[in-house]
Amino acid sequence: MCETHSLTASKGHRVCSGGMRVSSSWRWQLSQAMRLVLRWCRRQRGGGASDRLWELWTYSKVLLKSLYFNSLSNSDTLLDCAFEPVYWTVDNVTRWFGVVFVCLVTLLTSSVVVIVYLFVLPTILSTYPYYWILWHLCCGHWLLIMVVFHYYKATTTSAGHPPKDKVNFPSVSVCKKCVSPKPPRTHHCSVCSVCVLKMDHHCPWLNNCVGHFNHRYFFSFCVYMTLGCVYCSVSSRDLFLDAYSSVEGYYQTAPPDFTPRESTAHKSIIFLWVLTSSVAVALGGLTLWHAMLISRGETSVERHINRKEAKRLKEKGKVFRNPHHHGRMNNWRLLLGVQRTSHWVTRVLMPSTHPPSGDGIMWDYTFTRRDPMAI
Ligand SMILES: [Zn+2]
Ligand SMILES: [Zn+2]
Repeated sequence: MCETHSLTASKGHRVCSGGMRVSSSWRWQLSQAMRLVLRWCRRQRGGGASDRLWELWTYSKVLLKSLYFNSLSNSDTLLDCAFEPVYWTVDNVTRWFGVVFVCLVTLLTSSVVVIVYLFVLPTILSTYPYYWILWHLCCGHWLLIMVVFHYYKATTTSAGHPPKDKVNFPSVSVCKKCVSPKPPRTHHCSVCSVCVLKMDHHCPWLNNCVGHFNHRYFFSFCVYMTLGCVYCSVSSRDLFLDAYSSVEGYYQTAPPDFTPRESTAHKSIIFLWVLTSSVAVALGGLTLWHAMLISRGETSVERHINRKEAKRLKEKGKVFRNPHHHGRMNNWRLLLGVQRTSHWVTRVLMPSTHPPSGDGIMWDYTFTRRDPMAI
């Protein structure tokens, strides 16, 4: 910026370069216009008030430059500063709405469970053969336990933060908000106002950051919640069709004579089917997106960074290689903590509190798909 201004002054015309062209152009034009106006005023009045006005203008200009000037200042920095109040508002709203969202998830899940126990399960018990009853009881309760367990753990487990008391750990940069070193894969969460190890994203539905220590809980919750919604939606489909045709009859000239319990059942089953089907589609899409990221050994944040880096290297004729991608299956084993075959049952299909591999600070870049791993 300094260079741009000096060139501008010495040559008497606009000389800009790169990204500075647009941002410095309008400032230069404004500055020139103000200078001409003040010179004209000074000539007209011969000093006095216009001199003081000139001094004030020069002082204001120096003050303004001193507030934002450094060698890295550009239009992006200025835009960031201008939008800082907007970011602050969004972050605070997200922080406070997190509590509301957690209550909403708990309330809606509880309402679905109550409707299933009151209206769906009695129908299954009274009309289905015993082997279907057994399957529904086992599958339904297994999904319920897995959803509740993983949601509780994802919400209450800290994603992990860089140590405050230690300084001798590998870092790739310094966080400008925390003014502390950042280990690889660590990013600052503006909602939580803290750096998060292997940060994926801030989830308002959990009111928590998703990072190194709760990534598995978050993903398992998404999977089991989707499966639970698909299960409820498919199981209550026939009941929904019956309830829907019954509700249509409410608006006929001679409405059918339903008891209050039957009317409540119809409305509850319609609510259950619409809610579980919608969540199954929306959360299913999100779960597939995260499954794709895990297969590639990336977090949501790294997805954007790696794409930019791949593009930048491609322009130079080079190929980007993600150092955290250890092969599709090994990425899954690392996330799920599967070290033995039996772990697929005890750690994936059953509730498990085992910690993730590694501390989220040191990362093994030498681990490859040829390294010995249990299948
Ligand atoms: Zn930070
Ligand atoms: Zn956060």
